[in-house]
Amino acid sequence: MAPKKNVIVKKSKPATKSPAPTKGAVKTEKKPATKTAPAPLVSENELLMQSLRGMRDILPDEQPYWERVRRSLSSAAQEYGFNRIDTPTVEYLHLFIRSIKEGTDIIDKEIYSFQTRGGDRVALRPEFTAGIGRAYIQHGMSVLPKPIRLFSMGPVFRYDRPQEGRYRELWQGDFEVFGEADPILDAQVIQVAYRVVRELGLKDIEFQVNSIGTPESRKRYEKALVRFLESQKHKLCQQCRERLVTNPMRILDCKEDKCVQLTSQAPQALDFLDDESRAHFKSLLEYLDELELPYSINPRLVRGLDYYTRTVFEIWSTDREGKKYALGGGGRYDNLIQDLGGEPTPAIGFGLGLDRIVLEMKRTQVRPYEFPKPRVFLAQLGDLAKKKSLRMFAELEKHGVLASESFGRGSLKAQMRVASRIGVEVTIILGQKEAIDGTAIVKDMVSGTQETVTQERLVDAVKKILKTNASLSHPTPKFDQ
Ligand code: AMP
Repeated sequence: MAPKKNVIVKKSKPATKSPAPTKGAVKTEKKPATKTAPAPLVSENELLMQSLRGMRDILPDEQPYWERVRRSLSSAAQEYGFNRIDTPTVEYLHLFIRSIKEGTDIIDKEIYSFQTRGGDRVALRPEFTAGIGRAYIQHGMSVLPKPIRLFSMGPVFRYDRPQEGRYRELWQGDFEVFGEADPILDAQVIQVAYRVVRELGLKDIEFQVNSIGTPESRKRYEKALVRFLESQKHKLCQQCRERLVTNPMRILDCKEDKCVQLTSQAPQALDFLDDESRAHFKSLLEYLDELELPYSINPRLVRGLDYYTRTVFEIWSTDREGKKYALGGGGRYDNLIQDLGGEPTPAIGFGLGLDRIVLEMKRTQVRPYEFPKPRVFLAQLGDLAKKKSLRMFAELEKHGVLASESFGRGSLKAQMRVASRIGVEVTIILGQKEAIDGTAIVKDMVSGTQETVTQERLVDAVKKILKTNASLSHPTPKFDQ
């Protein structure tokens, strides 16, 4: 379809730039509106031609990286006994509030929620655990032999301020284990995460671990932390002063220099652990030592979500300049299933940020996945041949021969040009005469020889050439175009 005259067709601009207002403009979100700067105007046409801020297309060019990540996640899941689960992208808002809790950034600022036409308050999932926990209860999985290991992969949504590596639609790979409190499971899920990043060829990976204990020991710790920070409130950034009331533990995550400085002297969660949590953590460290995983204890690590108990961990990579990137994180959530209405079920899980992993692969020049290339080209000439070629293509595909074609092109020369550009080893030519005779020409592009075979013998003849070529180390195709 020809573009309408007034449609603005252009490459997406960096999210921070606002386009000039145009005729037929509507108000839309570009930057967070402030009192002094109202939301800029954007043309309706431009809205049609642009993905939402913080959301992007993952184009075919980039897919080889994503494919490598997807394959790595799936094989790790399989090797460690995780079964795939896919839960809806949209859930009742209440589910997330009940599990992640108000006072967290996710619920207070980042969740995409709306009312449906039927009046339900729903939300786009900001993470996987709540939805998978809901599915665990809803489908009575507690009767299954434990531990129950589930794996998922897909987009999650957070209304955050977009920048490089931070999106509003982001992809996560997620692993959850239900029904086992033993710290060996904590070590094993960390091992799974390590298996994925190592297999992807990522280097300079560090696991940071900590324990935040039970809700009771956490409460005692939170009290001590607030007491300490209250006494020096003036040294905190404005946001952390608010967090002191809403979610004091999050202050430990703040990246502002003055907050980092102050919290480095603050009490540590590990000093407030109950005996059982302390023993649990000690065992986890012993298992990690045994596995020789690159880990360190980060006493400031608390994670932003409310449902964690005991073990919490994050996966970080570091570049040459020492800049750190969070690639994933997780922890134990022994009370969540019960809080959501299920039976008491200890559980642990983690999420990997796939967008960040892809960025990291590119940064460290990890080889992307190589999709198999067609080794055969099917060329056709004339009406009858064209008609028969679709069936012939299906026949090749049925026998595992990956072929390419350029059916839309009429001239043989143009088709052969495509074949040579792809670099195939065999070209099948189906002309008018061959179509009538029930034959086809099979041309070996490496040796340059060709023969006419019956269509029944075609697959065998093609496979024979491919096999011969495969046994030669590096066939150099000859093209006469
Ligand atoms: P979290 O549970 O918030 O720690 O998220 C798990 C992982 O998802 C993080 O370690 C990041 O790699 C990734 N992640 C979180 N938020 C974003 C975002 N807004 N954009 C891209 N990746 C993200």
